Order: sequence, then C-alpha cells, then structure tokens
Amino acid sequence: MIPVRAYFRLFSGYLRPHRPKAMLLGVILSVSIALQLVNPQLIKRFIDQAMAGSAASSLTPIAIMFMVVAVSHQLLAVWSTYLAEQVGWSATNQLRADLTDHVLYLDMGFHKSTSPGELIERIDGDVTALSNFFSSMIIKVLGNAALIAGVLIMLWRESWMVGLTITVLTAGTFAGLFRLHGVTVPWQKAIRATSAEMYGFIGEQIDGTEDIKASGAIQFMLSRFDSIQRKWLPQVIRGWTGWAMMWSASMALYFASLAAAFVFGYWLFGIGALTLGSVFLVFRYVEMAHHPIEQIREQLIDLQKAGASIERVERLLARESALIQGGDQLLPDGPLHLRFENVTFRYDDEAGDNVVLEAVSFDIQPGRVVGLLGRTGSGKSTIARLVTRMYEPQEGAVQIGGVETRKIEITELRRRVAMVTQDVQLFRATVRDNLTFFDESISDDSLLGVIHQLELDEWLASLPAGLDSMLASGSGGLSAGQAQLLAFTRVFLRNPGVVVLDEASSRLDPATEVLLERAVGNLLENRTAILIAHRLETVARADDIVILENGRVVEQGERELLQADPKSLFSRLLATGMEEALV
Ligand code: ATP
Ligand code: MG
Repeated sequence: MIPVRAYFRLFSGYLRPHRPKAMLLGVILSVSIALQLVNPQLIKRFIDQAMAGSAASSLTPIAIMFMVVAVSHQLLAVWSTYLAEQVGWSATNQLRADLTDHVLYLDMGFHKSTSPGELIERIDGDVTALSNFFSSMIIKVLGNAALIAGVLIMLWRESWMVGLTITVLTAGTFAGLFRLHGVTVPWQKAIRATSAEMYGFIGEQIDGTEDIKASGAIQFMLSRFDSIQRKWLPQVIRGWTGWAMMWSASMALYFASLAAAFVFGYWLFGIGALTLGSVFLVFRYVEMAHHPIEQIREQLIDLQKAGASIERVERLLARESALIQGGDQLLPDGPLHLRFENVTFRYDDEAGDNVVLEAVSFDIQPGRVVGLLGRTGSGKSTIARLVTRMYEPQEGAVQIGGVETRKIEITELRRRVAMVTQDVQLFRATVRDNLTFFDESISDDSLLGVIHQLELDEWLASLPAGLDSMLASGSGGLSAGQAQLLAFTRVFLRNPGVVVLDEASSRLDPATEVLLERAVGNLLENRTAILIAHRLETVARADDIVILENGRVVEQGERELLQADPKSLFSRLLATGMEEALV
C-alpha cells in the first residue's frame, strides 16, 4: 500500500551517494528514540524515590538527568529532520536534473503535446512530493513505528497484562486504519479528479470569456458549472467523512488505551504489584504511543500520493524520443552538402490526408544558398525542422554532408546545423549570455570579433550597456530586427556548415533592415544555406530557388535561369509580386 518498493526501484541509485548520511540518520534516530523511552523511566524513579522519602540531594541528579535527556532528544530531533531533508532533497535534485536532461532530448512532437505547466508539475511538483516522501517515510513512519515498538516493549517489561492489552489495542487500530485507508483512497481520487475537471473548466471559461459572452452561451456554461459543483459536493463530504472516520478510530484507541492504563494502574497499584512511579510510567507510555499513531495516519494519504508521483515520473523517464538516438557519424568541416530525397512527412504518425510534405527532393551543393518560397502553410518551416532534425521524416531521407541525419551524432548535428527561426527566443539574462547560451568559455574578445565580422558594431553600440545589457525573456525588449541580429550572432559563433534562416514575416525599419542584410551576407559566406523568404528582395542573394506548394516542390532551379525564363513560376512571381502570386 505504501509504495516503498517502487520508491526504492526509482531511487536507490540516487540515494547511494548519500549512504553515509543515511546511516548517520539511522543512528541519530535510534538514539533519539532510546532517549524518548528512557525519560519516563527517570520520572518513575523520581516519583518512587520521592514517595519513599529520599533526600533532595538524591533526587536532584535524577531531575538534572531528566532535563539533559529531554534537551538532547530535542536537539537530535532537529538534527535528524535536517539530515532527512538534506538527503531527500539532494537525491531528488539529481533526479530533477536527470529528468530535465531527459526531457530536453525528447522530440518536438512530445513538446508540442505536453504543456509547459505539465512539465513543471512533473519535474518539480512530483519530485518534491518524492523528496517529502523520503523525509516523512524515514522520520515519521519508520521512526514512529520504532517508537511504538519501543513503548510496547517497555510496557511488557512493566506488566505483561498492560503490555498485552495495549499491544492488542494498537494492533487493532492499525488494522482498522489500514482498512479504512483502503476504503477512502478511491474517494480521495474521485475528489481530485473532479477538482481537476473543475479548474480545467474554469480555466477554459476565463480564456474564452469574450466568445462565451458574444455567443450568448452564459446560461449553458453556468449550468455546466452547476453540474460539476453538484458532483463535487457529495464527493468532498464523503472524503471528509473518511478522514473523520480514521481520526475517530485513532482517538478511540487512545481513549481505550488510557482507560486500560487507568484500570490496570488502579488495580495493580491497589494490590501492590505496581509502584506509583510505574503507574505514571504506564500512563506516560500510552500517551507517547498516541502521537506516532496520529502521525502515521496523517502520512498515509501523502504516501499514497507519492505512489502516483513515482508512477508519473517513471512514465516520463521511460518515454523514449521519437528520434532514433545513437548516431555516431561526424561531419566534415566547412560548408556541407544538403539533400532531401523523396521526403514525405506528417506531424502525427498515423497515415491520413494530413501529409505536410510529399515526396520533396532537392539537392544543395556545399556553399550554395537556396531561396525557399511558398505561401503560408506550404511547409517551409517544416523543411527547416527536418534539416535540424526536430522531427524525423516518415519516408525518404534527409542527408547532410552525405550522411543521413539520423546517423549523425546529435550534438555534432546541433553544432554544425543552425537555424534562426521566425521568433527568436531570448532569456532573461545579459546580451552576452544570450549570445553564448551561458557558455563561459567564450571570451568577450571572440564575441566582439564575431560582432565585428557581421558588421554589427553599430548594433552593439546602440544597446544601453553593451554586452552587459539585460534582456527580458520572450522577445526581451528588443525589436524583431534586433532580436534577429542577436540570433545571427549566436549562430555565427558556432560556425555551422548549414544555416537555415526562417525570415521574420514582419517588416523591419529601414535602418535595421540594412544591418540585417549586411549580417545575412556575412553569415552566409562560405556556408550552405536555406533562406525561407517572405519577400522577394530576400531571395536576390540566393543561387537557387525552390518553390513549395501544398507540401510539394512545384519548381526548382538556378535563380538566374528561372528569372530569365518567362514561363517559369518564379519569373511570374517577380513580375506580379509575391503577395499577389502566392498568397
Ligand atoms: P508560414 O509561411 O506561415 O511560416 P510555412 O510554410 O512555414 O508557413 P509550416 O509551418 O511548415 O508552413 O506548416 C505546414 C503545415 O503543417 C501547415 O498546414 C501547418 O498547419 C502544419 N503544421 C505546422 N506545424 C505543425 C505541428 N507542430 N503540428 C501539426 N501540424 C503542424
Ligand atoms: Mg513558417
């Protein structure tokens, strides 16, 4: 019921480096439990000696002992909690790092279908639940179970009748609690499912407020809201009833145990079988056993939740990238040959009429620049994603430098093939970190060198604090043009052999435009490139032209030849303008 085995299956590897600390934790816990058990014994001795009329001088050491033991126990409790949290968190931080790493290597298909919120919940929420699991499991459940066992042993030592009675009562309560817990788990699950439905519904409503009002769907939405509420209320009541049942069960035990302690104490003291100190001792132990039972009861629900977290984390870890890993080929230096061979591609794997690219073939010699044209939705950005291996084609092959992309070592591919997309992603960091992707091995000198090569010194000078200027995340306070310039510098730093530029479709101001043109010219020097163009001026620098329509290549050839041929689609485009002919 408590997912201990699943937990250790997932976690033993992460806990191994912390074994010394875990052992220390075990020792501290044992000592602290022993101290807790010793303390009532001291009181017993104190009472018995006081009753026997001992001098204060012989009582004082016992009192001092009592205080020392009590304070030490508190200190050890703090220390053990600290250690348990530390071990729990360091182990789970490693798991967090591994999960993040794993997720970063998953294919784009996964990322498109998984919302960022969900990933945060998996990597952070579930993992935090697991780290709590460690501390509550060790301290609260194991520690408390040991304490209860200790208390029972002590009670048996005092009087077998008391020991037996309390043991039976405790065992009975635990059996009852576990049974009840089993019954209430589905109730709790139902509440969580309905509350997820409720919040999902509310989120959707808030997103769609305008449309809902405009289409007069308010009444309908309210009645749906109502029906979810109606389902929710009885579930919540039932859930709390379950909680109350468990609470009453453990309280009932507590009172039954106290009553037993009282009855036995009265009787055994009366016949002289127990001293007054022993009677007090029995009471004290019965009281002590109550607290851990309460804690274990509270933990049961959390531990159950940890089971669900473990399951989700394991599922995420087991999720394999749709991209076949394990390519080991490296690429030659310099500009690279790029070839699409009968590439057919759809975003979702099921065959159907949702084909985005159909039998696309083209061949780009090293160092040549291809202008890719096509109306919106024709598949241009998709081609870019296949070149950079964000996705894998279902049929045909993409070859770079004569090697199929799936056979190229993935970091090599990422290093040698670069893409600047329509929306540049900026990080909340300095311009320097945004350019180097936080790689501190890149010196400012080489950065400035690259900026100079791209003729972007002016751009750098226009930033408020040069390389130290802070950017915000998203589009980061830079204009679209400036962001593109930053992205070019990023790409240039890596010195790739293939560059794919997905031109921003928004128009830029003329000054930035000039900078951009110059930077593109410098960037493309001695590289193979695909220029995805939304304006005809952009393709003026292309050597070849490829025109896409509905995922098929409808025309390709040398730009100058196509331009000279009045029957070509490209020359018609030039004559009428891109917007008119394509869009
Ligand atoms: P634009 O000029 O507007 O940038 P594009 O030529 O770049 O258009 P693509 O982005 O390649 O067009 O899209 C081609 C087709 O694939 C479109 O029909 C689009 O709806 C679809 N598509 C694009 N991305 C995805 C995705 N992640 N999942 C499913 N379908 C997609
Ligand atoms: Mg696009």
